[in-house]
Amino acid sequence: MSQFPIHSKLPNVGTTIFTVMSALATEHHAVNLGQGFPDFPMSEELVALVNESMKQGYNQYSPMPGWLPLREAIAEKIAVLYNAMIDPDSEITITPGGTYAIYTALTTVLQPGDEVIIFEPAYDSYIPNVEINGAIPVLIDLKFPEYKIDWEEVKRKITPRTRMIMLNTPHNPTGAVLREDDIQELRSIVNGTQILILSDEVYEHLIFDKIPHESMLRYPDLRERSFVCFSFGKVYHCTGWKLGYCVAPAGFTKEFRKVHQFNCFACHTPSQVALASFLKNKDSYLLLGGELQQKRDYFQELMSHTRFTPLPSYGSYFQCYQYDRISNESDKDFSIRITKDYGIATIPVSAFYRSGKDDKVVRFCFAKKESTLAQAAERLSRI
Ligand code: PMP
Ligand code: GLN
Repeated sequence: MSQFPIHSKLPNVGTTIFTVMSALATEHHAVNLGQGFPDFPMSEELVALVNESMKQGYNQYSPMPGWLPLREAIAEKIAVLYNAMIDPDSEITITPGGTYAIYTALTTVLQPGDEVIIFEPAYDSYIPNVEINGAIPVLIDLKFPEYKIDWEEVKRKITPRTRMIMLNTPHNPTGAVLREDDIQELRSIVNGTQILILSDEVYEHLIFDKIPHESMLRYPDLRERSFVCFSFGKVYHCTGWKLGYCVAPAGFTKEFRKVHQFNCFACHTPSQVALASFLKNKDSYLLLGGELQQKRDYFQELMSHTRFTPLPSYGSYFQCYQYDRISNESDKDFSIRITKDYGIATIPVSAFYRSGKDDKVVRFCFAKKESTLAQAAERLSRI
């Protein structure tokens, strides 16, 4: 017992599953299809642009809301993709990653006792981010195995204290995506209420089979009540850069920046300068979905020679698989065992449920070189 005990603000939280599984993968020299990050190199041109901006002297603080030319390039991209006119000055803030953007948006609006609807399986930062603000997560399971939102249940769970609905499309860990009918349900549910939306769209470009990305930014009535969060790490294969942004109406952004300015203040300048020019090349993000779709298909073909059963992936860089033809162990035990015995690391999907709900599903990250995927599948075929 320490002489200086700390009353934990997050008593229910341990080390994230991503850290746990990556450490286990390293320890056992496993192929790591667990934590979501690409193992192939990012664009050399973008690396050169960052070098160049450092050499040119862009090494001091950028403005608190972010490098203006970068915000302008983002606004231009949003206009082209989602037909929305966003003011770069008052509606976009550059952040150190998508996770930070989400945390800051929640901290900006949540008061103790507010209720926040969260769909599970949920990206692991959401519930702790809500609870650290004294708010209450109201959990709703996505319907297994399609992982669709049950809008009737959403209606039942809304109360006068519902402050926010959190959405994530394309979805981590399942690869599910919101469709137009979901948007219509959402619109009719929030219409006439004060309910806000936090939309995590970090995988906006990683969407397959020609499905359109249903961004909140497309719909003026949803946009006016939304914080929409993005990550350059996902778009440009540089998760280690920890750079992203939040798009929100001017009134929301003003409050968001009050929190941001006393936390991070401003983000890494040379990479913002580089991204401002790189983003002008539309192919740099428009080709991404096709590239990752190829990887999904390649991995799926390889996996068809194993005893794992695929669940569909329409977006993100993840695909979930059932292993009920192999074992009835818990997904955590199964994941640990195959890391140790077969040298292949995954993420057990129960880690994305507060209750630990276990449908015996594991998540694989296919944002990997073909040789990595082939080596992984060869090991998986032995199980
Ligand atoms: N949301 C989801 C669903 C994610 O998978 C990630 C990736 N870790 C993030 C947010 C955060 O991205 P970043 O690494 O930019 O913080
Ligand atoms: N987003 C990544 C994943 O889901 C990892 C994020 C992290 O390690 N915190 O695997």
